[in-house]
Amino acid sequence: MACVVQKFGGTSVGSIDRIRNVARRVKAEVDAGNQVVVVVSAMSGVTNQLVEYCAQIAPLCDQKEYDSVVATGEQVTSGLLAIALQELGIPARSWLGWQLPLRSDDAHGKARILSVETAELRARLDAGEVAVVAGFQGLGPDGRVTTLGRGGSDTSAVAMAAALDALRCDIYTDVDGVYTTDPRIVAKARKLDKITYEEMFELASLGAKVLQTRSVEMAMKYRVRLQVLSSFEDVPGTLVCDEDEIVERQLVSGIAYSRDEARITLVKVADRPGVAAAIFGPLADANVNVDMIVQNVSEDGSTTDLTFTVGKADLNRAIKVLEDQRGTLHFERLVPDSNVVKVSVIGVGMRSHAGVAQTMFRTLAERGINILVISTSEIKVSVLIAEEYTELALRALHSAYGLDAG
Ligand code: ASP
Ligand code: MG
Repeated sequence: MACVVQKFGGTSVGSIDRIRNVARRVKAEVDAGNQVVVVVSAMSGVTNQLVEYCAQIAPLCDQKEYDSVVATGEQVTSGLLAIALQELGIPARSWLGWQLPLRSDDAHGKARILSVETAELRARLDAGEVAVVAGFQGLGPDGRVTTLGRGGSDTSAVAMAAALDALRCDIYTDVDGVYTTDPRIVAKARKLDKITYEEMFELASLGAKVLQTRSVEMAMKYRVRLQVLSSFEDVPGTLVCDEDEIVERQLVSGIAYSRDEARITLVKVADRPGVAAAIFGPLADANVNVDMIVQNVSEDGSTTDLTFTVGKADLNRAIKVLEDQRGTLHFERLVPDSNVVKVSVIGVGMRSHAGVAQTMFRTLAERGINILVISTSEIKVSVLIAEEYTELALRALHSAYGLDAG
């Protein structure tokens, strides 16, 4: 019997009626003759509320306790969905991360999945039970609950699909697929029928909220057939797949943006070997991810300015780490700026075509938008700009790359 993993996001399970609606979708898959593993998120808004509770007591709170608090949202929905399924006459049981167990490392708040045990689960599936798995949570090496980072239920779902060698992993959400860019900002955005794993990986890591980055990384590694679909409408979604399954290829497939960026400039840092290591080492130790980096040439050969970006949520942590190192780093000033946005164009076509970056720079220049930081990789170009230009930049780039819906 084939196994299918279905994942339902926060808005899809946002009320009791919606949970009943999800139960009907699960039933349809059971009626089609498949074994079904369902992975659920917390009801929409719940995780934010739980995060907020922690922050109100201590902004930089103990991460183990943070996990123990924020993992509870998924426990509620997994139980409720199991009950809703039972009410439809379908045998169903909820599973928490520790009950599977889904083991993770100890990076609380953004733990990585190490393994999923499936022997007991398989036996229950074979016996005709639907498994309702609480997403987002795992079991750490010291026996404590961990969470997998915001949006982590997607990764729970892909991990389950990989571990069970599932036929498909269907991610049901409140949008009906992956778009060329955010349709709430660019009305001419188009839904993509298919997108490569690599492009989806970049889109997700550069700000598209539709899938958690790690879920795409894992799907790519284990070749999980990943589909993004609406839980409210019966329309075809977007399939994330290998490049050779895609016939019609664009130079640029999508444009992502992220407001979750903050820029830090260290003014007059010593310009000598070891300084970058002294700055970024402690940040890494504090679990702060640094993204774009530019270092200016020093005018006098002794000091330079260094600019880099971190996630907005990590800004205060990063400032504290750097201030603590002030004695060693001898920078003159630290200038934080969180009114920035990172805009990125992504496409596997860039590998074989020049000029993609130039089109981006020209388009932004024509609109009078100043570029603060640039970074590129094989299949993307990213720029950091002032946040107020987000809409203008997205619309201009979307038409410059010929992505506008006709
Ligand atoms: N409930 C968690 C969050 O809001 C995990 C998820 O929904 O994927 O981030
Ligand atoms: Mg999500």
